[in-house]
Amino acid sequence: MAQRSPSPPAPVVLLDPAEVRAACDRARAGGHGVGFVPTMGALHQGHLALVSEARRRAGYVVVSVFVNPKQFGPNEDFARYPRDLAADVAKLAPLGVDVVLAPHVDSVYPPGDETRVRPGAIAAPLEGAHRAGHFEGVATVVAKLFGIVGPCVAILGRKDYQQLLVVRRMVRDLFLPVDIVGHPIVRDPDGLAMSSRNVYLSPDERRRALAIVAGLDDAARAFARGERSARALERCARAPIELAAASIDYVEARDADTLAPIEGDVAARAVLAVACRVGATRLIDNVVLGEDAPPLGS
Ligand code: AMP
Repeated sequence: MAQRSPSPPAPVVLLDPAEVRAACDRARAGGHGVGFVPTMGALHQGHLALVSEARRRAGYVVVSVFVNPKQFGPNEDFARYPRDLAADVAKLAPLGVDVVLAPHVDSVYPPGDETRVRPGAIAAPLEGAHRAGHFEGVATVVAKLFGIVGPCVAILGRKDYQQLLVVRRMVRDLFLPVDIVGHPIVRDPDGLAMSSRNVYLSPDERRRALAIVAGLDDAARAFARGERSARALERCARAPIELAAASIDYVEARDADTLAPIEGDVAARAVLAVACRVGATRLIDNVVLGEDAPPLGS
């Protein structure tokens, strides 16, 4: 009879940042690398892919679940953002996660807390232009989380492409002892990028949201056929999205490393990034032209 491999021990849920730091210090002293995946919870297969990558790269794995109030604008969905810590821990248990860091807001932002990390030009366009203060909130909380966990390899998703670049820049600029790994976008079988916010979509909106990946796929195929005009590629992606979205914040091709605008033609690579509302739900997605395969596959 085949032996079942023993399931890994359940993750320890810690609320206190000092306890997490001590646990990570012990792991490092014992010769383990630490892998870290920051999240806001409501975990889906996209998050779990990042966690598996952390597990592959490190002997000790920490996942944070923290809905960071400072990265939400006043009219955004902080209050109703989906939260279910018990379900999140159950999803992480089979993956061999050592610690789930689930701090209270007051222990991340205790009374008197006033230091903020202000990212530079990389945070200005795209999301930065539509969500005032968002990346200051992201950079500040990620710096705090990196401070809590200590030296580690951190896995971030390319779904939030600009966030990945902002965090990479911060790590370099502040000499933080963290290796950043970007993980490819994980999609549902029909192509929709997985997101905790997809639960807000009605069945009809869920169908309409497929216009986003259809637009990105059309543009990636046009690029593969030789189209290089940044405006033509943007128009190509925009066409299906315009028919389906309630509003579009941006459909823009930008330099894949600096997010600088592209005046004429795309050279080797460019990120084509989209943010729009389907119904009342704001969704983002992207494809890196010249690097990613068309997201709807062959
Ligand atoms: P969030 O909980 O939405 O803040 O996301 C936590 C991390 O998971 C971020 O690094 C995201 O970029 C990443 N992530 C979220 N959705 C996906 C996805 N569909 N594919 C890859 N990474 C993702």
